[in-house]
Amino acid sequence: MKDFDFLVVGAGLFGATFARRAADCGMRSLVIDRREHVSGNCFTESVDGIDVHRYGPHIFHTASDRVWAFVRRFGEFNKYQHRGRVSYKGRLYSFPINLATLRQVWGVESAAEARERIATERVAIERPKSMKDWLLSQVGEELYEMFFRGYTLKQWGQDPANLPAEIARRIPIRMTENDRYFKDSSVHEGIPVEGYTNLVASILDAPQIRVELGVDYFSHREQLSRQARRVVFSGKIDQYFGYERGRLAYRSLRFDDERLQGDYQSVAIVNYTDEAVPFTRITEHKHFAPSSVNHTIVTREYSMPHDRCNEPYYPVRDAANNAVLAQYEKLAGGTSVVFGGRLASYRYLDMDQVIAQAIRKADSAMEGSLGRTLT
Ligand code: FAD
Ligand code: UDP
Repeated sequence: MKDFDFLVVGAGLFGATFARRAADCGMRSLVIDRREHVSGNCFTESVDGIDVHRYGPHIFHTASDRVWAFVRRFGEFNKYQHRGRVSYKGRLYSFPINLATLRQVWGVESAAEARERIATERVAIERPKSMKDWLLSQVGEELYEMFFRGYTLKQWGQDPANLPAEIARRIPIRMTENDRYFKDSSVHEGIPVEGYTNLVASILDAPQIRVELGVDYFSHREQLSRQARRVVFSGKIDQYFGYERGRLAYRSLRFDDERLQGDYQSVAIVNYTDEAVPFTRITEHKHFAPSSVNHTIVTREYSMPHDRCNEPYYPVRDAANNAVLAQYEKLAGGTSVVFGGRLASYRYLDMDQVIAQAIRKADSAMEGSLGRTLT
């Protein structure tokens, strides 16, 4: 008799949601994480009255009523709405590109004028596949240079000509006054009032769930696997298979914090699109929530390749890595392990997508054991 139905590797949003969904159906999970905290990359901690996003700024947004209802069971969200800013050659611009941006860049006065101007800027490219071609076909050379080329070069360590268009398709381009960052943001958006860490801790707070932190799956693999009927894995898929088909590439990040007095940039995030500025963005954490503190904490974010000493953050989904991934997916198909989350899927998934994936995968794993369909 096993102690647990599931051994869940990773206490991020994927692992927590999976374990909770299972607990709601009466099934028991042992959730482990090699880090000393729950909530994975959306981990936040309170420093001198400011909730600091330790692994980069995280803004929750979703078009799914189901995901929104799920997260709000476990915590309240504030009404933060993300509007971006870009700093390029010392001047600040509204971002994503909208009518205000085009007014700043070209002095256009109306949506009709903006549409007319951008039509003359667009480069005719049939079926653009790369990020560069897609952007040139949408906004033309000047806006591509100002807003995308330098940032992407720093963020990915590669020219946008070598990256897939999907990465930039996430960002809207509008000929209206709507300057909100996310395409789905008019639906549900916000930041957990008590921080992401408390939100995830609350998702995990069920009698059927035991959480053990500071435990690396690969150091105790056999002993841990013996305790549960099935393994759910949200770590790196290539590591799960001992890198036998090669290593999948990731971009990593370094975060440099500075504590200052007053207000630094008046908004939560400013992207630095100049190639000459070494960091990609500055986050000023107190602007994610109403705050009355007189000091501030700002974080500069630097991008770099992933190696054995740093964390994997962004999967590099180019053709070579996709081919390696396909081999791991085939190996995964031959096991009973449930793979999910950003690292095991090797996909650029937002938090809401990870939650939706975990609910789907948990339901399908449990339907197998319970012999009935879950609603
Ligand atoms: P993770 O959060 O990475 O959790 C996986 C966990 O597994 C980790 O805690 C890790 O320690 C653990 N683990 C791995 N291997 C092992 C092992 N061998 N043994 C034990 N434990 C292990 N999404 C949004 O929706 N909005 C945003 O604004 C946003 N901003 C982002 C900014 C940055 C800089 C990054 C990198 C991501 C951002 N995301 C954002 C995406 C978001 O972080 C992910 O969707 C989400 O955190 C993925 O959850 P996860 O559980 O799949 O993975
Ligand atoms: N991007 C850019 N300039 C910006 C912001 C984003 O070129 O000011 C590009 C960059 O390649 C980035 C991608 O668009 O990786 C997606 O941006 P998003 O803000 O969604 O990335 P994330 O918040 O996940 O880092």
